[in-house]
Amino acid sequence: MWRPGEGRTKPFFPKGMEKPVHELGIASSILEIVTRAVEEKGLQRVTRLKVVVGETTAVVPDALSFAFEAISRGTCCEVAQLEIEERPFRARCRQCGEEFRVEEYRLICPRCGQRDAQMISGDELYVDHVEAE
Ligand SMILES: [Zn+2]
Repeated sequence: MWRPGEGRTKPFFPKGMEKPVHELGIASSILEIVTRAVEEKGLQRVTRLKVVVGETTAVVPDALSFAFEAISRGTCCEVAQLEIEERPFRARCRQCGEEFRVEEYRLICPRCGQRDAQMISGDELYVDHVEAE
């Protein structure tokens, strides 16, 4: 098992490029990243991989699974089990430090009512780890 890229938080899409998101395009990127890594390591096939998607990326996990399964036929990822972890949109208030779940993109602190909050999760889109043999 290893983690591609420089770490868990490195997105594989640059900021600003995530809209409009198509699961097929994302699945292709995942396959490309994983295939390259597997070839570099001289391995044959991927058994498991985990992808993390944030709520604000608008990725539908089922659609992503379906797309990945379709395009991975005949590749090193054909038998891979794809796990998708969803991360909710959460923010931290810069005034009082409260951390809260953001509903309907309203960044209003439920504790102090200020609109001065910073996103702390929900924009993730990366391959978390890969297991291959
Ligand atoms: Zn607050």
